[in-house]
Amino acid sequence: MHYLIVILDESANSFCYYPNPNRQQKLMDLDVLKKGIFFAQKEGWLINFLIGKTTLPKEYKEAIDVINHIMITPPEYPQDAVEDVLVIDYDSRKTFENIPDNPDKNVILRIDKADIQDLLQIVISLQGKFKRINILIQNINLMTDDDFEIYKSQLELLSQWYLDQSKGSDAVEISTLSDRLFLQNMNNCDAGVKHITLAPNGKFYICPAFYYEDETNDCGDLQTDINIKNRQLYRLNHAPICRQCDAFHCKRCVWLNRKTTLEVNSPSHEQCVTAHLEREASRRFLNELHTLNIYNNKKIEELDYLDPFDIVNNWK
Ligand code: SF4
Repeated sequence: MHYLIVILDESANSFCYYPNPNRQQKLMDLDVLKKGIFFAQKEGWLINFLIGKTTLPKEYKEAIDVINHIMITPPEYPQDAVEDVLVIDYDSRKTFENIPDNPDKNVILRIDKADIQDLLQIVISLQGKFKRINILIQNINLMTDDDFEIYKSQLELLSQWYLDQSKGSDAVEISTLSDRLFLQNMNNCDAGVKHITLAPNGKFYICPAFYYEDETNDCGDLQTDINIKNRQLYRLNHAPICRQCDAFHCKRCVWLNRKTTLEVNSPSHEQCVTAHLEREASRRFLNELHTLNIYNNKKIEELDYLDPFDIVNNWK
């Protein structure tokens, strides 16, 4: 493990595929927080804190400041540390005008699949506000063939726009297009392998999604230590489909896997196709960069499938 995720506020916005909890604002008890921080210190881990809209009391800030950490926050939270990450849920009724410019920061942009036809415009409206935009489709598991077509065409438009931006010196990073360009190996979420989550009840969970879905699905607590059943199943080498794959940027979300296939190590068709549409858009984008003599040393192979499971018979 490398780090601990701490759900500091029950109402903290989702920063990933799981739905927003829609819970009352309630901070983790200070005592649980301090014990969680001590646990992470003993292990030598960093902490990612999930922050809600509640302003943190002074004693919470003092407790947190003893450990290296990142805050994952709503836009309303004071943005004073450059390493903190904002989470924004796209809402077509609102604009991003009130979000201050944070040109050195990362943002996680969560979009409902119903809004993906607006993806290019949404990204353009965030232009100049952030250094990096992490795009995440909230209900990726419900993507249909029509949605895939829309996403594919939006990625193409985004790629053309991004190509123009990339010629400038202050180009923003866009996760779905730029990440695969630079990865040589899998860079998945790795919940249960690289990180574990501490919930306000003092118990550990594979990730926040597991906590919000079913609080009885814990894997130990601060008193008894972490106890992940069949923990090998969360590792890439025990994921028979994903270990054949080179969509290196894919989240390989184990919560989505369990929800859609009942196996934490088997992905859904929807997750794979979405990741491969992004991989293909990245490949085409890279080819465009090659015509400009940029990143000539990078290469992404062309594939004739969008779901690795379709070539199951070719696996060695
Ligand atoms: S695209 Fe599919 S097979 Fe590849 S890493 Fe993602 S979930 Fe696994």
